[in-house]
Amino acid sequence: MAMEELRSGTVRNFVGGEWTTGAGDPIPVTDPGSGESMGAVTVSTEADVDAAVAAATEAYAEWSRRPVEERVQPLFRLKALLEDHQDELATLLATEHGKTFSEAKGELRRGIENVEVACGMPTLLKQGSGIVERAAPGIDESGIRQPLGVFAAITPFNFPGMIPLWFLPHAVATGNALLLKPSERDPHTPRRIVELCEEAGIPDGVVNLVNGQADTVNAILDHPGVAGVSFVGSTPVAEHVYERAAATGKRVQAQGGAKNHVLVSDSADLAFAAEQTVSSACACAGERCLANDVICVFEDVYDDFCEQVAAAAEAQTVGYGPDDPDVGALITEEHRERVEGFVEESVDAGARLLVDGRDVVVSGHEDGVYMGPTVLADVDPAMRVAREEVFGPVVALTSVSGMDEALSVLNGSEFGNAASLFTGRGGEAQRFRREADAGNLAVNAGTAAPMAFFHFGGEKASFFGDLHAQADDAVRFYTDQTVYIERWPDA
Ligand code: NAD
Repeated sequence: MAMEELRSGTVRNFVGGEWTTGAGDPIPVTDPGSGESMGAVTVSTEADVDAAVAAATEAYAEWSRRPVEERVQPLFRLKALLEDHQDELATLLATEHGKTFSEAKGELRRGIENVEVACGMPTLLKQGSGIVERAAPGIDESGIRQPLGVFAAITPFNFPGMIPLWFLPHAVATGNALLLKPSERDPHTPRRIVELCEEAGIPDGVVNLVNGQADTVNAILDHPGVAGVSFVGSTPVAEHVYERAAATGKRVQAQGGAKNHVLVSDSADLAFAAEQTVSSACACAGERCLANDVICVFEDVYDDFCEQVAAAAEAQTVGYGPDDPDVGALITEEHRERVEGFVEESVDAGARLLVDGRDVVVSGHEDGVYMGPTVLADVDPAMRVAREEVFGPVVALTSVSGMDEALSVLNGSEFGNAASLFTGRGGEAQRFRREADAGNLAVNAGTAAPMAFFHFGGEKASFFGDLHAQADDAVRFYTDQTVYIERWPDA
């Protein structure tokens, strides 16, 4: 579809193989980098959700009986289609989200990785399925993984291409049917992915798109026909989803918000650590759950490191996402004001502003929502900027006496999504691995983003549930483990 059509059209639902309109009032969608309209997205009511669950339930009956080898064939085609359309999808994603074209392409690559992993479902389903002969007199016993029915995936705005693909391929390959409820802020990319699912030959009703906001989510959470919910979004909503879905007996995996720390040892390669730190904090304009934005630097190298971070931040270009600068737009004006509020409050409380990105203007896109990389030094770990998720391109530097204090700041956080350590000492790396309370850890890498063949971690207020997204955990989440005991009187 041409961009002009997208800018005026409404993103619809996809239910039982038909493109339909929800009965709610549509929500406008805006290109945050230019301020131009991106049309609207339909809103699904309880009745629309009910119809989607009915279509998915019907499709599940047939789909779950198909051999797994047959179920993965459309996923091989989906991988090829996503690759063929990667540039088109990345342009769409960068336009409606604001991130850069390269970031959008990278995000899609990480999503495609999940499709590749799910293509191996015939092998993955063998997990925990060993047979024990003569488990008891005359008895053989084994474990079997079976699909559960209809699942829902509720996803956030910040990765509209990748996060639906954390869930969709695994849910489908394990034999379930899915309702995808993407963010209402950038619904075009998930819509296009669902179109490609249709083109890949995933049967009608197996993948359904149900757009909307909180009311639509609540209708999904309350629906007795939904077996389980995968959620990614902010912590208060993750907690709500976890509790409300569990109240009706669903299984739930709910990934929440984050506050991620970087520890910089005096033994680290400082130039490398500074470049990685700025890139981690400012990629996707800081709108990443893996953004490392609290930087705990050993006091001996603190001043030197602050200077290097400031220089790296000043070198970043800010611009319109599809033009592929280093840093694109934030999602809304309201969000930018919130991010700027963190900066003002920190400066008032005594932090030093080394780089101020608040007044940046992108020529030709004056109505876009931009903020350049911003660096705060001498941040006290008790300040709000060091405790709460900022979700903007803001780096907060704090001086620590050494590993003890750095770990104490990190582990004092309410969140436990990710953390990185830059060091030249093996002993520090080992201690970090053992003692850091976060679900995704990296040493000498700015962003602890697991490949699709590992689960995506998360602890404390960053995760509610027990089985995470991706890989083995995804297989376990989307299947029931039945134990099968067999005895024959003629044996
Ligand atoms: P959000 O919580 O506002 O929305 C997420 C989803 O929930 C959307 O589909 C939205 O429509 C729906 N929703 C919003 N409010 C709701 C409510 N009151 N009741 C029911 N449903 C509701 O999150 P967002 O702003 O779209 O995404 C950013 C957040 O997601 C950040 O906090 C970020 O850290 C987090 N995130 C976490 C991970 C992770 O892996 N832990 C990954 C990506 C994003």
